[in-house]
Amino acid sequence: MFDKIERARLEEIHFRHDPESHLNAIIAIHNTRIGPALGGCRCIPYVSDNDAIDDAIRLARGMSYKAALANVPQGGGKAVILMPAAENLDRKALYRAFGRFVESLGGRYITAADSGTQLTDLDEVAQVTRYVSGTSHDGFNPSPLTALGVFAGIRAAVRHRLGRDTLKGLHVAIQGLGNVGYALARLLHQEGVRLTVSDTDSAKTARCKQEFAATVVATQEIFAIECDIFAPCGLGGILNDQTIASLRCSIVAGAANNQLQLDKHGLMLHQRGILYAPDYVINAGGLITVSLGYLKQDIQTIRKRTLGLEETLLDLFARSHAEDCPPDVIADRMAEDILYN
Ligand code: NAD
Repeated sequence: MFDKIERARLEEIHFRHDPESHLNAIIAIHNTRIGPALGGCRCIPYVSDNDAIDDAIRLARGMSYKAALANVPQGGGKAVILMPAAENLDRKALYRAFGRFVESLGGRYITAADSGTQLTDLDEVAQVTRYVSGTSHDGFNPSPLTALGVFAGIRAAVRHRLGRDTLKGLHVAIQGLGNVGYALARLLHQEGVRLTVSDTDSAKTARCKQEFAATVVATQEIFAIECDIFAPCGLGGILNDQTIASLRCSIVAGAANNQLQLDKHGLMLHQRGILYAPDYVINAGGLITVSLGYLKQDIQTIRKRTLGLEETLLDLFARSHAEDCPPDVIADRMAEDILYN
């Protein structure tokens, strides 16, 4: 355990077992140099306690890096609830017990939504602690802001790589048309961008075809579409030996988390001359929403700060070019400068 903590440079890890509500939860606080740790609560089944601990530590560390480059006044943390197998689970009681756990940390960790945790679950959390961001009635929906941040990031990549101030007439291939992918497609369409799209859900592709005149391709074909920008907005791990070899674009810039299957794939993209916008930088619009929403900032401020990701990425790309070093490596270095130096 302690070697994991040391390797990840984790500040704190907390465990809570509440037999009455069936809560088994972990809160990992990675870095609070800038402010209290902020990060969602994941509630999924885990094969083992160790897997849950590893997930909490890995995700908390990722949040620190993301928060650092998004320039928000919080650090990184994450909570994990091991999804109970109990029949007739009282979900409200589960999340209230989790809320009491959050409250017991006195504000060093602020929770939010993540896989398996709905905004209505956070309503329960909010009954027992104020250290929560995003409930069903606060009116902030992170996904459209994540899409806006990706849009700003695409503009930065286009300016850096293609030397153009406008997206008009460019061709973008979007993989995944969920909450973020669809909102991104709309923003790009409004800018006069030509779209090719894929999704495993044919209703979603049909909608984009009808609304944005998008060309629809099969899921396995999207990687090899000849286009300017490939925007992964579905699953993680999609940039690997096979897919990178088949790409016919000059930029990869999308919302999906953990796009690089392995670290070496950032270098592979760089060596192929494909500009990669590091996922945790370009998809930070949702974090900015949760962070500034917690601090009661208005939506105009949140939008402005999200659009600021364009400047962050321009700076990052310039450094990557100057040092001939992959953008994902530069992003980590920039974040570590903020977190540790
Ligand atoms: P979502 O679940 O709403 O959408 C994902 C979409 O991808 C779905 O429409 C799904 O059918 C599609 N999909 C799944 N497998 C596919 C495949 N093989 N090929 C093509 N499409 C496929 O999720 P979302 O909220 O839109 O998030 C998209 C990505 O962005 C995820 O990786 C998420 O972790 C990341 N992200 C989201 C936010 C946010 O604010 N929602 C913030 C940061 C990062």
